This record gives sequence, structure tokens and C-alpha cells, in this order.
Amino acid sequence: MPVVAVTSSAEETVELGRRIAAQLRPGDVVAFFGDLGAGKTTMIKGIASALGVRDVVRSPSFVIATEYQGALRVQHIDLYRLTEPSELTGIGFADLFSPDCVTLVEWADRAGPELPASSVRVEITAGDIDRRSIRITGLRDEIESGPFS
Ligand code: ADP
Ligand code: MG
Repeated sequence: MPVVAVTSSAEETVELGRRIAAQLRPGDVVAFFGDLGAGKTTMIKGIASALGVRDVVRSPSFVIATEYQGALRVQHIDLYRLTEPSELTGIGFADLFSPDCVTLVEWADRAGPELPASSVRVEITAGDIDRRSIRITGLRDEIESGPFS
């Protein structure tokens, strides 16, 4: 069942990320879709902090992947600079989806068919000012889609 939520601030999107994190297990892949500034990295901050990551999480701008160690190992991949999915076969993209870690992929649409079919999908659409519509599919269980405080 898809979960549809509307958040009204970055903090609410972080909180939604924390709720998603509670269901994640090693080997899971979460794919993020949405334009620049939609809030993909913001939600990843919530997921990473709930998984015990203490490092500062930011969009990796030149590196394609950053790894964090929390209670679980977290792999943060940003495909913004990718021009076509076939570039991924040369860099061992499939190997990044380790069964030992939770993998979070920004600009997941860029991966095309290289994205695992079993990925949790998070689609973020910006609305007025700080409002974001967020649609999540592929979770194991329901999550509360509000309120956030
Ligand atoms: P992306 O990774 O999708 O490019 P970021 O998470 O880096 O986006 O940036 C989102 C920006 O939008 C941040 O500056 C954040 O503070 C702001 N923002 C405002 N409202 C929200 C909201 N409801 N959810 C997420 N981010 C929001
Ligand atoms: Mg980002």
C-alpha cells in the first residue's frame, strides 16, 4: 500500500525519514525521486540519524557514494551527475547494493533498469513554499503519515 504524506517543513520530512528508517534492514535499497531541492537529502538525514549515523550527511556532489557507519552500515549514493544508466555497469554499481548495508539512492531515475526492482520508492514533489507531497511505496509495513509533532 502506498503511503502518501504532506510535510510542511524540512523537520517534518526528517521525521518522516525516521519513521521509514524504523522498518529498514540490511540489504534494503531506498530510491529517491524528485527535483533539485525537493528534499531527498533532507529525508536521508532523518533516515541516517535514526540508524545511528553521527556524521554530517550532505549530498555527495562529486563522489557518487559515501558510506556511513551507524547501528547499520549506510551507503548514500547520488546519481545527479550520471548521464545514462549504462555508465553504471562500468563502475560496479551492482556491487554497491551490499546485503550488509542500507542503500539510499538520490536521483534514482538516472539508474533506469540498474535500480533493484525491490527498492522502496520515495517520490517527493514540491508544492507551495515549504510543502512537499511525498509518496512512498514498497515498505514492509504501514507508517504514520502524520502528524509530525
Ligand atoms: P534534494 O536533495 O532533493 O536536492 P535537499 O534536501 O538538499 O534537496 O534540499 C531541500 C531544501 O528544501 C532544504 O533547504 C530544506 O530546508 C528545504 N525544505 C523546505 N521545506 C521542506 C520540506 N517540507 N521537506 C524537505 N525540505 C524542505
Ligand atoms: Mg540531494
